[in-house]
Amino acid sequence: MIYDVIIIGGGPAGLSAGLYAGRGKLNTVLIEKETFGGQTSTTHEVENYPGVLKVTGPELSETMKEQVEKFGVEILKGDVESVKFDDKIKKVITSKGELQGKTVILAMGAKPRLAGFKNEEEFRSMGVSYCATCDGAFFEGMDIAVIGGGDSALTEAIFLTRFAKSIKIIHRRDEFRAAKSLVNKAKEHEKIEFILNSVVEEAQGDGLLEKLILKNTLTGEKSELEVSGCFVFVGLDPINDIIKGKIELDEGGYVLAGEDMKTNIDGVFVAGDLRKKDLRQIITAASDGAIASIMAEKFIEGH
Ligand code: NAP
Repeated sequence: MIYDVIIIGGGPAGLSAGLYAGRGKLNTVLIEKETFGGQTSTTHEVENYPGVLKVTGPELSETMKEQVEKFGVEILKGDVESVKFDDKIKKVITSKGELQGKTVILAMGAKPRLAGFKNEEEFRSMGVSYCATCDGAFFEGMDIAVIGGGDSALTEAIFLTRFAKSIKIIHRRDEFRAAKSLVNKAKEHEKIEFILNSVVEEAQGDGLLEKLILKNTLTGEKSELEVSGCFVFVGLDPINDIIKGKIELDEGGYVLAGEDMKTNIDGVFVAGDLRKKDLRQIITAASDGAIASIMAEKFIEGH
């Protein structure tokens, strides 16, 4: 069978593309390897998606998935191993077999970046975490650190106050990328303190994390911080393994496409965090997905 649209990735971009393709009666398959919702599924609370006052990330993700299923999109749980975009009919090779499609929408998103301190990998899951929703409860009553100065670091630090006894937000500058409202909310919280102009150089402990070695970026001075947990939120890296060398990417590895979501390959579109763009939010991912589907439909009509 040749699908009209093959969507790779089941985050807000992919699910929104699925919703529009399904409603447009395109014969569509959506492949997701892990959890539907992508990063949204690990976000504790969403309060900046229009029409929804407050919802948990997993709830919003599940509703998006249900909506897609309602419109008849085939959902496949599996891993995409490679893609072949040379011919008119595109091929997507998955752990469940080969799929063929007239168009492909790339919506693999992005994944948490490592901070790069010594022993970061060794202490992963032994105190170092990249997901507050997943691991926060393990740190009930404990002293922890959060690294980063963006929306994720501040949002998740505020969430972690539910569990932790104290939270030190370690940021390499004294200005924040995060929204002012979030910074103010964190500053006002009694459990949160900031350690600014500082980076983590090393994690230490006997099996489990016990302390971080910090370095002041202005003075070079080193210090120790005793913590049982360290949550890292220092940005994202695009998930582009299967398309590297096959499609035009920018220097950061994001797919180049304009507001029409068209990549440099005919019939291949991109949507969401994987696209080079200025604002990575659920709403912009959803918007990309909708546009990508409509553009895929136009592409099919034109051929
Ligand atoms: P981000 O906005 O790229 O911020 C990353 C932060 O980590 C920056 O403060 C950066 O410092 C710092 N950093 C980067 N590399 C570092 C390193 N090696 N060591 C120490 N610090 C490092 O990433 P994000 O917070 O994960 O957010 C990603 C995207 O999702 C953004 O577009 C964000 O707006 C969006 N998001 C939105 C919401 C929301 O609207 N509620 C929630 C979460 C995420 P510098 O500032 O010095 O570069």
